[in-house]
Amino acid sequence: MTLDLWINSVYIVAALLFILGLKLLSSPATARRGNGVSALGMGLAVSVALLDQGIIEFKWIVVAAAIGAVIGTVVAKKVEMTSMPEMVALFNGSGGLASLLVGWAAIEGSTSIFVLATIFLSVLIGGVTFTGSIVAYGKLSEKIDGKPIMFSGQRVFNGLLVLLILVSGVMFSVEPNDNTMWFALIVILALLFGVMVVIPIGGADMPVVISLLNSYSGLAACAAGFAINNNILIVAGSLVGASGIILTQIMCKAMNRSLANVLFSGFGSVSGKAEKIEGEVKPISVEDAYYVLEAATNVAIVPGYGMAVAQAQHVVKELQELLEANGCEVNYAIHPVAGRMPGHMNVLLAEADVSYDILLEMDEINPRMDTVDVCIVIGANDVVNPAAREMESSPIYGMPVINVDHAKTVFVLKRSMASGFAGIENPLFFKDNTRMLFGDAKESIGGLIREFE
Ligand code: NDP
Repeated sequence: MTLDLWINSVYIVAALLFILGLKLLSSPATARRGNGVSALGMGLAVSVALLDQGIIEFKWIVVAAAIGAVIGTVVAKKVEMTSMPEMVALFNGSGGLASLLVGWAAIEGSTSIFVLATIFLSVLIGGVTFTGSIVAYGKLSEKIDGKPIMFSGQRVFNGLLVLLILVSGVMFSVEPNDNTMWFALIVILALLFGVMVVIPIGGADMPVVISLLNSYSGLAACAAGFAINNNILIVAGSLVGASGIILTQIMCKAMNRSLANVLFSGFGSVSGKAEKIEGEVKPISVEDAYYVLEAATNVAIVPGYGMAVAQAQHVVKELQELLEANGCEVNYAIHPVAGRMPGHMNVLLAEADVSYDILLEMDEINPRMDTVDVCIVIGANDVVNPAAREMESSPIYGMPVINVDHAKTVFVLKRSMASGFAGIENPLFFKDNTRMLFGDAKESIGGLIREFE
């Protein structure tokens, strides 16, 4: 067997491990194993890529890999669960930058139009992913204003930018001997375009952007794979590109928006006349909440970002067990974009060993919400906002939400009347059947547990 055949055979094994990993990642029960299997595939792919006979010098590869491994390990260990989306944004950005650099390195000696065109694509998509992800990171971590930035003539400006990028790409690809200036222009325009693509997006649309950038980072890697003729990079890039776009689509559906609307409309930047919210806020004490829960036979728990902030998942599980011991049926209602990343709530509840059987998706729980005695909303806000159904002027109008207000009684656990991520008011807090249990979610639930005990 020649070395080439060996390398490609191992690449096939790595590709199969990636696909198996992705499959396992699709359920919270197997996600951890999926991550391990994919990491094994990546380990194999990277090791075998080092056998490439084109490599002249291993020293710097080892140094770079060691530095990368240390940074990756430290950052992954230190990151708070609530900052995961920021970390994913930085990962995507690094992937984009890597593809840009691979494309750049591949220029030397490349003369075929096909190869130059793939270099153009890897630099373009990589550059857009890099700066786009940095802006997304800044918005998510609130280092820059999270609101959409729109200005007049923005679309014309972006249109011209795209035109210029395409012209530069064509010139770069057809002029192998004298294309340095075109290459420099492509890099600058791609970096600028990444910023332009993400600034008009903000508020509750950021999760979609993160997953879209994830998809871009895959496409950039795929193009880089063509540029350096590396099969596993093409396969891995396509898998990331495809899974990212599928996730993007799922999220758009969860928010009842089209991708074009997310990308170009500027969330909440134009809102109609605000409708007045009727009703009054009715706070409830821990003791009174306990009496209601004690008599309940069917409870639905709706976690949101606040549960992650309060790190209340373990006490929530304790409360669930006490309710069950009291003869009550307990389910969790999970909204696809609750928290700050897809699957955020599933991860937290898995950490507390909550059984997957009682996690119900929004579409499953909504039709039976009117049979629920008490719905306990724990630090969720936007994902339970009935304005999405009732107020046409609301920026989230049309987004599917968990219809907690259809339950007989709703307890909302949060610290104040502050709005959620989308920055909009929530009429749920003013409904007749809603009681506000103010305070840190972990403390409030701790109080309920003490009452039960
Ligand atoms: P929200 O951000 O709408 O609301 C969270 C609520 O938690 C706040 O109103 C806050 O109120 C409360 N809270 C914060 N800390 C605590 C605490 N310690 N104890 C009790 N309550 C607390 O969260 P949702 O999960 O409902 O909605 C997610 C939002 O994030 C959506 O708009 C979604 O589009 C967006 N998003 C989702 C991502 C995803 O992929 N899941 C990624 C990025 C954004 P108070 O301050 O009064 O306590």
